[in-house]
Amino acid sequence: MSDQSAVVKAAPKGIYVAGEWRDASGGGSFAVEDPGTGKPLCEVADGQADDARSALDAAVDAQADWAATPPRERAEILRRAWQLMTDRADDLALLMTLEMGKSRAESKSEVTYAAEFFRWFSEEAVRIEGRYAQNPAGGSRLLTMKQPVGPCLLITPWNFPLAMGTRKIGPAIAAGCTMIVKPAQLTPLSMLQLTDVLAEAGLPPGVLNVVPSSSAAKTVGPLMSDPRLRKVSFTGSTPVGKSLMEQASKNLLRVSMELGGNAPFLVFGDADIDAAVEGAVVAKMRNNGESCVAANRFHVAGEVAVEFTARLAERLGAMKVGHGAEEGTQVGPLIDADQRDKVGELVDDAVGKGARVVTGGSAVEGDGYFFTPTVLSNVPREARILTEEVFGPVAPVTAFGSEEEALALANNTEFGLVAYVFTQDLRRALRVAEGLQTGMVGLNTGLVSNAAAPFGGVKASGFGREGGTEGIEEYLSTKYVAVSLS
Ligand code: NAP
Repeated sequence: MSDQSAVVKAAPKGIYVAGEWRDASGGGSFAVEDPGTGKPLCEVADGQADDARSALDAAVDAQADWAATPPRERAEILRRAWQLMTDRADDLALLMTLEMGKSRAESKSEVTYAAEFFRWFSEEAVRIEGRYAQNPAGGSRLLTMKQPVGPCLLITPWNFPLAMGTRKIGPAIAAGCTMIVKPAQLTPLSMLQLTDVLAEAGLPPGVLNVVPSSSAAKTVGPLMSDPRLRKVSFTGSTPVGKSLMEQASKNLLRVSMELGGNAPFLVFGDADIDAAVEGAVVAKMRNNGESCVAANRFHVAGEVAVEFTARLAERLGAMKVGHGAEEGTQVGPLIDADQRDKVGELVDDAVGKGARVVTGGSAVEGDGYFFTPTVLSNVPREARILTEEVFGPVAPVTAFGSEEEALALANNTEFGLVAYVFTQDLRRALRVAEGLQTGMVGLNTGLVSNAAAPFGGVKASGFGREGGTEGIEEYLSTKYVAVSLS
C-alpha cells in the first residue's frame, strides 16, 4: 500500500506550461479514481481554455528555436527519456495500474512499448532527408526539404495512458515540432509523470506543454480555431474524431486520426489451433480487452469452431480477475461503471438474440468495475456486439463456411484498423491479407503493435500512421525549391 501511495504522491498534479508547473487558471481540480476500488486517488488541476491558450503561447514562442535545434540534440533528449523510462518502469507501471486498472505486468509492457517510441524516433530524428533532382526537361533542378509542421495539439485516450502519448510526442520532438498535450481525464497521472521525465531528459521549456482537463471540448476548442496551431493528432473514439475533423477544417490543420476499431479474428480450417488460441488470448485480453486493436469478432471455420471455442473458453475462464496491483492478477477492472455496463448490455443483447454463454457472461459484484472474461458461441449476425466496439473481455464466436464468406464477414464493419488471420496456407494468407479492408493485419499472431511499424487504420478507424518510418512524416511538411541554374 505504501508503494501505491508513494507513486501517486510523487506524480505531478498541475498544468505544465513553458517548463513550469502551475495551478489551473480557475484554481479548480478534478478527482482521479482507481477503477479497481472505485475510490479517488488524488486531485489534478482542471485546465481551462485560458490554460490551453497559455500553453499554445508557450508552444508558439518555442517553435522557431526548437526547429533550429540540431537533430542530434533532439535525438539525444529522446534517447535519455527512453533510458529514464526504462530505469523507472516499475513506478511508472504501478502509477498506470492505479489510474487505469490493467495488471502491473500489462502496465510494465506498456511502459516498455511507450519508451520504444522514444528510442525509435531518436533514431529517426537524424534521418530527415530531402532530395535533389534534375528537371526532366533539363536546365533546372528540383530541391525538396522537410520542415516541422509547427505547433501541434495532441489528444490522447485513457486506455494506453503512456503509449498513445509517446507515439505522438516522440515523432513531434524528432521532427522539431512544439506541442500541447491534452491527456484523458480518467488517466492524466501517467502523462504528467512522463512530462517530468522529459524535462529531466533536457527538453527545453515550451516544447511540451500539458493541460489536463475535465472539460475537453471547452478547453481545446479555442486552440482548434487559433490560426497559430498547425496540426491536431487525435487518438480516441470515431465520433470525437469526426467533430475534431470539422473543427480542423476552419484553419486547414494537418490531421492524424487514430480512431475506433472492431477487429475480426479469422481462423481457417488449416490453422495451427494451438497458435490460434494463443493469438486469440493475446488479441482479446491485452489491456482487459480495452484496446482499439482488440479482436472483437471471432469468425472460425465450421470444422474447427467447436474445438477453438472450447479451448478459448478454457483459457479465458482460467484467468485471474482482480485489482491490477495484486500479485498474479491477469485481468483488471474496466475503466468505469459506464464501460462495465456497456459490456454487460452487449452481452445481454447477444444472449437475448440466441448466443450461448460458454464462460463468464456477467459483471462482478462488489467494489471496482470488473467483468468476467467471456466467450459467447453461436452469436447471431444481428447481435450488436458484431458491429459495435465492445471494449471489454468478451469474445463472440461465429462459424463460417468458405474463404469468401470469412472475408465478407471480416469486412462487414464501418471500422478498418486491424484484422487477425490464422492459416498455414501461404497463398490463402496473402489473398486474405490483400482482401481485408484494414490498415494492419496480424498473420498468425495476435500482436501487431511495434514502434518500428506503421500503426493506423482505414475507413472509420481514421488515417495517418504512428510509428515506423512513416510516423515522423505526420509531423513534417515538404518544401520544394525550384532552382534555376541559368
Ligand atoms: P474519447 O472519448 O474519444 O476520448 C479521447 C480523448 O479525446 C480524451 O482525451 C478526451 O477527453 C478527448 N475528448 C473527448 N471529447 C472531446 C472533444 N469534444 N473535443 C476534444 N477532445 C475531446 O475516447 P476514449 O473513450 O478515451 O478512448 C476509447 C476510444 O479510443 C476507442 O474507440 C478506441 O478504439 C480508440 N482508440 C484508438 C486507438 C488507435 O490507435 N486507433 C488507440 C487507442 C484507442 P476526456 O478524457 O476529458 O473525455
